[in-house]
Amino acid sequence: MLTISGLATARGLASGPVFLYRGDDEIPVTEYVVPVGREGDEFMRYKRAVNDVGRDLESLISVLRERSNNGEDVKVFEGHLMILEDPILKKEIGRLIVETRVNAEAAVKKGIDKFRRQFARMNDEYFRERVRDLDDIERRLLRSLTGFTKSPRLDLTSPCIIVADDLTPSETVQLPREMVLGFATNGGSTTSHVALLARAMGIPCVTGLGFVTQKVKAGVQVLLDGTAGTITIDPDEKAVRDFELLMRRAQDAEEQLKDGLPAGTLKDGGEVKIFANVHPGVPFGALKDMGARGVGLYRSEYLWLNDGKEPDEETQFEAYRKIAEYVKNLSPDAHVTIRALDIGGDKTVRGITVKEANPFLGNRSIRYLLSDKRVFRRQLRAILRASAFGNIKLMYPMISCVEEMREAAVVMEETKLELDAAGIAYDRNMPVGAMIEVPAAALNVRALAKYCDFFSIGTNDLVQYTMAADRSNEEVAHLYQPTHPAVLRLMEHIIGVANELKKPISVCGESASDPIVGILWASFGTDILSMSATYIPLISKILRRLTRADLDEYKNLALSFDGGETGPEIMEACRRWMNGKIPDLDDLML
Ligand code: PEP
Ligand code: MG
Repeated sequence: MLTISGLATARGLASGPVFLYRGDDEIPVTEYVVPVGREGDEFMRYKRAVNDVGRDLESLISVLRERSNNGEDVKVFEGHLMILEDPILKKEIGRLIVETRVNAEAAVKKGIDKFRRQFARMNDEYFRERVRDLDDIERRLLRSLTGFTKSPRLDLTSPCIIVADDLTPSETVQLPREMVLGFATNGGSTTSHVALLARAMGIPCVTGLGFVTQKVKAGVQVLLDGTAGTITIDPDEKAVRDFELLMRRAQDAEEQLKDGLPAGTLKDGGEVKIFANVHPGVPFGALKDMGARGVGLYRSEYLWLNDGKEPDEETQFEAYRKIAEYVKNLSPDAHVTIRALDIGGDKTVRGITVKEANPFLGNRSIRYLLSDKRVFRRQLRAILRASAFGNIKLMYPMISCVEEMREAAVVMEETKLELDAAGIAYDRNMPVGAMIEVPAAALNVRALAKYCDFFSIGTNDLVQYTMAADRSNEEVAHLYQPTHPAVLRLMEHIIGVANELKKPISVCGESASDPIVGILWASFGTDILSMSATYIPLISKILRRLTRADLDEYKNLALSFDGGETGPEIMEACRRWMNGKIPDLDDLML
């Protein structure tokens, strides 16, 4: 039995067998000459691989047919089947094997590469899109020929705990939710996008475990504690019994958290509204049950990540309309804040994002949208059209300066004119805001207010950019300090200016769901805390036991430090204060 500690990333407990995941790495291929007379055998190897892949795709398609909402993903894989069976491609790969006597793996690579180059040169967008399909077919064929580990996409057949070096957001969203009990990764942090997805899916997750993939074997039992941030490998009987007891206590505690009162009501009747963060692709039907009063962050880029490409206007419109209609069930004045495409950084889509030396400082988010206005316009059209069906607010991610707001406003006006000309209905007063996640925007929030109806603070990025510490790199996790004095000053400034100018202000970074830090942002004057739905009952319960006067005291405490205290020291002082007010905090957080 071995227990390893990492970062407590998504709360919850899980016990089950390990599925060791090895990602979609480049598959190593060696080229060699096939001996004379063996070309036929080699060609049969290729044919067997085609049959294997064909079978896999067909079973994938039938699984997707059952669980798919719109059939779009089914179409993607049907397209893959057509490419796999394409007679010209098959003939070319066969020719390479038989005439040039290269092995099947090398022939697949060369044959597909030839097609890839031809498609990439074409003017037709349809064919350029097919390049990614070719990549996928190539990987599947090579996996079959080389025996390289299968991708787990839909191959999980029983519930398990995924142990991986790291996972990308697109890998994570494709895993079948019902088969994943938990995640444990070597790398990552509490605010990497995989972490956020795990929270959204309500799956316990521990990241930053170092070398966990080398310590476990596939199939071995592990106990995963996402609240404490530990994994126990091959536990003895007593550890299993203790863990089962803990799971039962946690279940009871969870039940007690839900008391049916409006989320975010303070002890003295005041309130801090609690909203939910939503990832498209992760079901949102339980938000009402969790107490969400609206959706404070709809991460639209997951429509891209789920499909591996840009969704067309209709697909986007349908998704935005659905969530706008759903939020009407949450509260009478509920709204959904759709965030415009926030791609780049660690959210990459093959064929759309490009490799950059510093992706978090590169052409991401609003910068990407302004650099490809066709994509931007398509998204704005879809959002505006959906705004006729419910309360939608739109916010732009990673705003650094007023120029971006001005340029975006021009595109918005042009799009509205287009819709007017076509007689399409939309909400003319749809509020538009900026995410504050870059220190330049934080310090310049007063000027930005001229262009914004509201603000939402993305603390995941704001802390990263303020501390110059990559949010997904466990090596610098110690510098990623939400209570660093500089972060506190920035937060005080942003929220103070927003309150003064009467601009609604929310916090939608994960820190909103931290019982110590989220409550601190509430004490600074935040109107809305938006978080993964699984954390709403907990934060709500804590707020219900505090008054506005308590919050003022808490704020004064946090801002009283100016004698060179460190972020962790301030965090500790805040924790002590909170424990004084809520002595059973640890039990609530189980
Ligand atoms: C943030 O940066 O806090 C945020 C909410 O955006 P994301 O985590 O998606 O980058
Ligand atoms: Mg962000």
